[in-house]
Amino acid sequence: MSKAKVYFASVRAHAFDYDYGMVGKFEEILNQVDLGNYVEEDDYVALKMHLGSHGAYRTVRPVFLRKLVDAVRDQKGQPFICDTVRIPGLEYLRTANRNGINELSTGAPVLMADGIFGMDSVTVKTGPILGEIGVASAMHDAPSMIVVSHCKGHIASGYGGAIKNLGMGGIAFKDRKGNAQRGKMHFLQNAELTWDEEKCSQCLQCINACPHEGIAFDEGNKLNIYSEKCARCGRCARVCPEAALILPQNDEMFQGVLAEAAGAVLSTFGKNKVLYVNFITDIHPECDCMPMADSALVSDVGVLVSDDIVAIEKATLDLIGEAQVLQNSKAGDKDITEAGNIFEKVHGKDPYMQVKAAAKAGLGTMEYELKTIECKPKPDGSTEPRMFGH
Ligand code: SF4
Ligand code: SF4
Repeated sequence: MSKAKVYFASVRAHAFDYDYGMVGKFEEILNQVDLGNYVEEDDYVALKMHLGSHGAYRTVRPVFLRKLVDAVRDQKGQPFICDTVRIPGLEYLRTANRNGINELSTGAPVLMADGIFGMDSVTVKTGPILGEIGVASAMHDAPSMIVVSHCKGHIASGYGGAIKNLGMGGIAFKDRKGNAQRGKMHFLQNAELTWDEEKCSQCLQCINACPHEGIAFDEGNKLNIYSEKCARCGRCARVCPEAALILPQNDEMFQGVLAEAAGAVLSTFGKNKVLYVNFITDIHPECDCMPMADSALVSDVGVLVSDDIVAIEKATLDLIGEAQVLQNSKAGDKDITEAGNIFEKVHGKDPYMQVKAAAKAGLGTMEYELKTIECKPKPDGSTEPRMFGH
């Protein structure tokens, strides 16, 4: 397999000139990628992103979403911004609005790809671990997609980028019968969380972290998990400081499952119908589904664009590995001075596992070449910076 091309624009701006800043350079990447290769006239184009949480504000900024929306419209495509239900659909849309992501700011409608109740899905075959899974119907049915990912850490997989954006975020919350679909990835359908009463300090963090009121102490101080409410997200176990809640899964399975599920979503698209945009900024340790955002682990890097999900994820992790560690962060707390595989250092999970699993599943290649964009040329083709402004 030949090397995949990955376009890169750094956050550094080497002139007081719009065309030298990341927004201008991002525009130039979209020019060079030629969206016409991926979007046909009248295509509905899903812009799949994570809309953040109430408190997790480090999502992709609307100015970049607007650039993407405009570029899709230039191709006469019909863009819509979407994610899937994690918290109740209407509440999630209000959260997006509070985070500045709405039709007014981006120029495209914002919707739940699995419906406002999170139950609109199409069952798609996956690999050997999952067997099959419910892909969010609006993504299943859209002819084109741009996967817009904010690259940051993740408590369960070490890292959340494009693979996780699709593998988790492209899967419906539940099916029509109420069976958790996305939750299948955290722990398989027949497995159960276990609680070790001896270790439990009754700190209540698991209860506070549950987005679905699925876990509570009863009057006898026994911790109960209510299967009819539990979405199998695993968050309660991950925040437990005493390891008193045990998830029935392991890292290798979880990373493999992410790649399998991402492959299931991608299997519903034709060749050359999916593009990936990775924003390597605000690289904090936690997923944007957490109720807060922490300070960044490393300095901002820039933005990548590619049509190869494996290549762009590998390039993202490699670039983060070269970034400068910021000490007022969880990295500083752990005395980390060089980034390297920083998400593994912080979370104890190797994010390259999910990239290798995606490569093994045939989703792309680990071999890439970076094409760095230094600036957006002026209309006459010159690249001399202006002294001020746009
Ligand atoms: S896994 Fe835990 S946090 Fe997630 S829904 Fe179930 S009880 Fe709540
Ligand atoms: S987070 Fe862990 S220690 Fe705290 S109440 Fe829940 S199970 Fe117990």
